[in-house]
Amino acid sequence: MFIIFGTRSYFRTQKTSQRGYCGHCGQFAKFKSWNGMNFFHLYYLPVIPLGRRQRTHKYCNKCNMTQQFDPDTFNALIHELKENSANAVLALREGEETIEIDAAASTDALSLLEGSVDWFYSSNDHDFNQGILAQLNHPQCRYAEAMLRAYIRTMEGRLSHAIDDYAAAIQASPKRHIAYSRQANLLIESRRVDEAITVYQAGAKVAEGLPDELAIQIFLAHHLMNRKRFNEANKVHDRIVLLHPPMMNDKQFAKAFHKARKKATNT
Ligand SMILES: [Zn+2]
Repeated sequence: MFIIFGTRSYFRTQKTSQRGYCGHCGQFAKFKSWNGMNFFHLYYLPVIPLGRRQRTHKYCNKCNMTQQFDPDTFNALIHELKENSANAVLALREGEETIEIDAAASTDALSLLEGSVDWFYSSNDHDFNQGILAQLNHPQCRYAEAMLRAYIRTMEGRLSHAIDDYAAAIQASPKRHIAYSRQANLLIESRRVDEAITVYQAGAKVAEGLPDELAIQIFLAHHLMNRKRFNEANKVHDRIVLLHPPMMNDKQFAKAFHKARKKATNT
């Protein structure tokens, strides 16, 4: 079916594109951002301009979801994020992990920076991101610097570099499981499944007993099944059911569970 009418933005400026995991569909996707004027169009001809220019933020190529902002609102948001980022960098350089944005709650400094560099990237301010990385080049923040560098390289689509950065983060702080999960996810995107499995296994060990262990084990089991590594999958399934018995109510999981049981040779 041809779409003969709808809305579309024209006269696009400040265009950027980046990669990463979509907050709507969860897939590894390509996102485009731009300022543009929306027109109602008919047979591909723009006919009626609909209001003023809008910033389209991270239009996902997998699910077509996006956010739209008035450009002034968008710029004010970027300005605020820059101030908060500067404070987060200072905190990390002083060996602190959290900052207080408002008096009510403290925020994880690295998470704030990851969220912020994503916005700066989408607004084409790559220099600001490089400036943050340069300021994190400090003995106190090796882990944060490697994590943030990996995040930026992921947005650039340079996955093999991002994978190396996560390795550096793991080396700097081997007891934090987040870098393992992130690295394994990117290895999966790069079709390096057996390497990913090894990293998920290491991450699951580090996260043992923590709430995040379950998710890591579920991903691990899924990829072990894909690789027909049934003996290992069988053991991981047992661990998953121990951690979260209702998993057996999930049809897909139960099917994989029984298949691994049947195929495993050393139970
Ligand atoms: Zn999406």
